[in-house]
Amino acid sequence: MYDYDLLVVGSANADLVIGVERRPAAGETVLGGDLATHPGGKGANQAVAAARLGARTALLARVGDDAHGRLLIDSQRAAGVDTVGVLVGGAPTGVALITVDPSGDNSIVVSPGANGRLAPADVRAAVSLFHTSRVVSAQLEIPLETVVEVVRNLAPGSRFVLNPSPPRPLPGEVLAACDPLIVNEHEAKVLLGEVCVSEEPADWARLLLAKGPKSVVVTLGAEGALVADAHGVGSVPSVTVDAVDTTGAGDAFTAALAVRLGAGASLTEAAGFAARVGAAAVTKRGAQDSYPTAAEVEALCCAHPGDTPRTPGTRSDSVPGTSERGETL
Ligand code: ADP
Repeated sequence: MYDYDLLVVGSANADLVIGVERRPAAGETVLGGDLATHPGGKGANQAVAAARLGARTALLARVGDDAHGRLLIDSQRAAGVDTVGVLVGGAPTGVALITVDPSGDNSIVVSPGANGRLAPADVRAAVSLFHTSRVVSAQLEIPLETVVEVVRNLAPGSRFVLNPSPPRPLPGEVLAACDPLIVNEHEAKVLLGEVCVSEEPADWARLLLAKGPKSVVVTLGAEGALVADAHGVGSVPSVTVDAVDTTGAGDAFTAALAVRLGAGASLTEAAGFAARVGAAAVTKRGAQDSYPTAAEVEALCCAHPGDTPRTPGTRSDSVPGTSERGETL
């Protein structure tokens, strides 16, 4: 019997956002609007997204003993996340300093802070969380050696989901544990490096699969997603929505996918649900503030009964030897 549907191991950041007329050049000072402080970080985002959907969720993360750390813990608790695994101290809470100009272009400086101090020993000390969680998800805003320790501590029968963001080369041990590895276009290209000469997402999916993960999901923004495993490559249509802000959509997608896989769905079914959650998330501003409840995901589907689901064009269909497994939403 599992206590948690999902254990997220990852980052928690305070996003400090200032609107500016023009982003400053070297040596320049510009005046901006009022500071807005939002809870963020990929780990914290995923945990909130999962809990909002009704999943029993725990977060293993590290924050500083400061006001930003308290803000992050409060936002996790407000969403229903169990924060028993959130460690405090060692460095200031991670922050992202974000300036946004009127066109929406931004410049971001990230100080990993306490996220960089989430150590392999912290994973070992939290082994009871691993033994009571059906699915474990991670990202790469924490040290890579900590992610390696996560895969070494997975309980038999639990499933590991990785969004390698920000992307960097992964050891075979981590790749082999992924079921699935979830990447967007940028992450796919960085992980494939020079191996990738193709612009076809179905090729990225196949080449990534050859690196060892049990399955791969490639997210394609408004174009939906591709899933790939030993049975072939299939497409998952996106849901047509009026996108307002795509911040954190990938985190919502990953959390929803992990939760659905844990509930026994197939990869294609889980990715279809995740695409609905990702679509719902882009209809509202912000990251965590935009994440839907299960009822809101339902309502989104019902609000578009006549929609023809968009598929990623001929991408997967045009590649010989692939099977089309996209589902109708
Ligand atoms: P990331 O945020 O990591 O770059 P994507 O932009 O690919 O990830 O978005 C993740 C998922 O969210 C997509 O696969 C899709 O299902 C959904 N999504 C993102 N943008 C849109 C959009 N404009 N319309 C509908 N769904 C979207």
